Amino acid sequence: MAEHSPRCPSCATTLRVTIGTIQKLLGLSPKVKCPTCGRTTDARAAQNMGDAYGRWCEHFAIDLQKHADGLPMLSDLEMRKGLGTRITDEDIKIFPTFEGLSNYCLRFYRIALVERAHGRDAQIELAHILESGHAIIMVINGRASAESGQAHRNLLVARVGKHQYVVYQPPGDDPRIKEAIAVKHYGSKALNGG
Ligand SMILES: [Zn+2]
Repeated sequence: MAEHSPRCPSCATTLRVTIGTIQKLLGLSPKVKCPTCGRTTDARAAQNMGDAYGRWCEHFAIDLQKHADGLPMLSDLEMRKGLGTRITDEDIKIFPTFEGLSNYCLRFYRIALVERAHGRDAQIELAHILESGHAIIMVINGRASAESGQAHRNLLVARVGKHQYVVYQPPGDDPRIKEAIAVKHYGSKALNGG
């Protein structure tokens, strides 16, 4: 039994694939057309994609949960200060559940996840912005491969309730994102030249 649904290798849309008994006996892999991008793939390739994409999504969701759990609950003022002093209500998205946050992030980083499923050089990194040594904001830095032509995509996440999260997409390069990732890899001493 397949654990993950088959997906389009190009755009990761879930595909409905039915393999008849005769086809199965003959070892044939039927062709399926993707309703989203219109590309045709065969059932086996779609299942391989579904499995690889599913694994990367799970990996990302687990990392997201781990980092979300490490966030303190911020007041409205602390959240605004943490995400960027000039943010307005239109700039932020509020999620009343972790699942809502997770689904949004999976959609937001779909291109990078598709590329990872194909073994390309794409990456999604999570880290915390620290204040006096304590995590206050989660940073997500997604990098698609060079050939995709897509720029880095960053998200900042604050926790405002037990399961409530606020997401903000900073317009430019927030220097705190690079710093948070550098601290994660090399420790805070790297920044102090120690
Ligand atoms: Zn497709």
